[in-house]
Amino acid sequence: MSQDTLAHRWPLNVPGRFYVTQDCLDCDLCRETVPTVFKRDSGWSYVYRQPQTEEEISLCIEVVDGCPLSVVCSDGDEYDWARVTCLVDRKKIIK
Ligand code: SF4
Repeated sequence: MSQDTLAHRWPLNVPGRFYVTQDCLDCDLCRETVPTVFKRDSGWSYVYRQPQTEEEISLCIEVVDGCPLSVVCSDGDEYDWARVTCLVDRKKIIK
């Protein structure tokens, strides 16, 4: 995973393999498909909770493939997310 990948995440995404970039079309596909993972804020979707079950992971992979703008992304399982500190202070974003 590159730092470029981190830089393009919508800051509200929780750390983890799945995330949305800021170029979301707000079509609602991801939120309808996996409401336990995706939420809407100010016209964009973001990952508020990483998938916990195999079913949720499978649905998220479907969303990665089905997002019309290809802005739902996955960095896979290789990276140790416990080592990553968030690049953006979310408290400055959430009002
Ligand atoms: S599927 Fe893609 S374009 Fe549609 S709301 Fe989700 S992130 Fe946005």
